[in-house]
Amino acid sequence: MSVLDHLEPRGVFRFFEELCAIPHGSTHTKAISDWCVAFAEARGLEHWQDAANNVVIIGKATPGYENAETIILQGHLDMVCEKAADCEKDMTREGLDLAIDGDYVYAKGTTLGGDDGIAVAMALAILDDASIPHPRIEAVFTTDEEIGMVGAEAMDMSPLKGRKLLNIDSEVEGILTVSCAGGNTSLCTLPVSRAAFTGTALSVTVDGLRGGHSGVEIDKGRANASVLCGRVLWEIGRKTDMRLVSVAGGLKDNAIPAAATAQVVVADEQAARAAASDLEKALQNEFRVTDPAVRVTVQAAKNTETPMDEDSTARAVCVLTCMPNGIQTMSADIAGLVQTSLNLGVLNTRSDCLQASFCVRSSVATEKEMLKNRLVCLMEQLGGTVTFAGDYPAWEYKADSALRELMTAVFREQYGRDPKIEAIHAGLECGLFSGKLPGLDCVSIGPDMHDIHTPRERLSIASTQRVWKYVLEVLKRSK
Ligand SMILES: [Zn+2]
Repeated sequence: MSVLDHLEPRGVFRFFEELCAIPHGSTHTKAISDWCVAFAEARGLEHWQDAANNVVIIGKATPGYENAETIILQGHLDMVCEKAADCEKDMTREGLDLAIDGDYVYAKGTTLGGDDGIAVAMALAILDDASIPHPRIEAVFTTDEEIGMVGAEAMDMSPLKGRKLLNIDSEVEGILTVSCAGGNTSLCTLPVSRAAFTGTALSVTVDGLRGGHSGVEIDKGRANASVLCGRVLWEIGRKTDMRLVSVAGGLKDNAIPAAATAQVVVADEQAARAAASDLEKALQNEFRVTDPAVRVTVQAAKNTETPMDEDSTARAVCVLTCMPNGIQTMSADIAGLVQTSLNLGVLNTRSDCLQASFCVRSSVATEKEMLKNRLVCLMEQLGGTVTFAGDYPAWEYKADSALRELMTAVFREQYGRDPKIEAIHAGLECGLFSGKLPGLDCVSIGPDMHDIHTPRERLSIASTQRVWKYVLEVLKRSK
């Protein structure tokens, strides 16, 4: 049964609802990619799909726009799959349960994927409606953006003719984003050895945190559950002999983990419980504004694995205690812009190692290198290694941008004020497109969305309506 079919703009919400019925988490994009291809085939539109499931659909210029420059409309097909603790949905197999609350569309118990389904829905709605005037359109839908822009990285962009790109992957209406950070995933691996240890097995959990996006929300001061878990381990280790069995937190490199759990064996259970309880009070004070529901719980556990030996436990706790995390520098050029940061996104242990995966971001290439070096320096001292993946370039500000000027002019007419022109700390695929399409003129926009990458994600209907009108006017004026 359709939930959104009465919402305007009809075309946008119709395609959005259709795509929400198809599971499309990162790395599971074949079905949604094929759905886009079927859309193009049904309408006789030129299109292509590559091995990474990226899709390009061409919309011919409407009458009067034959000589206008091609515009690329771009968004990503994949979404972050996060769900509430009590949600039993299998997001690899089931579609989302859409619902409406006042001005907001959300998905019950899960992320909505308005990031970035709304871009796909808008582009398809434009291609589907012959009454909308526009230049030749290249609708470019990439995959696996959320796990390091893998699709855009792999994509052969040489067939693209457009040199103006409207990216619809931003989350605040009224902001034209014109520059973004570059980044990479830095995987730190610490080899560990294990030895029997007699004591009480305990499970230590830090949860109740808000989590969030490691780019756009790194400046909110929210706690990282894996880092806090490291602090609990440090405190316990000061009060009693402790061995670490395992520790795990977070699911995605680019999400601030909301929960983390460690298995330990301790000599003195009461001392360990007291240390955890004291730290819980301290954390509830430190994070009373950003994460008021932070909890540290200690439970009896069944010990199934041999713990790490004393030396490995100390080195593992050192990784969690001493690795840099969060904001490293703020921009001196643009007030309020985070310049360089990193986020411990995924923490795991295996029988022979601990692995900590960081999402590193910076709009200054040399600072990104400096941060990589800091990780390498510490890991080498601890006997570990760092490997880097998914490196993407920063998208630098273009002083001379016809697209930005047009979009600013249309914005003024429509809203009666100036748009905010912003550089952001999150990565956008615009960086990869700019790298591959020389001279590209690029702006990123989007309707209001809140709490993306969390089960609280919601999309504003009124904002979607205004942004839709805005995009149509920009297209109409592009000749
Ligand atoms: Zn996105």
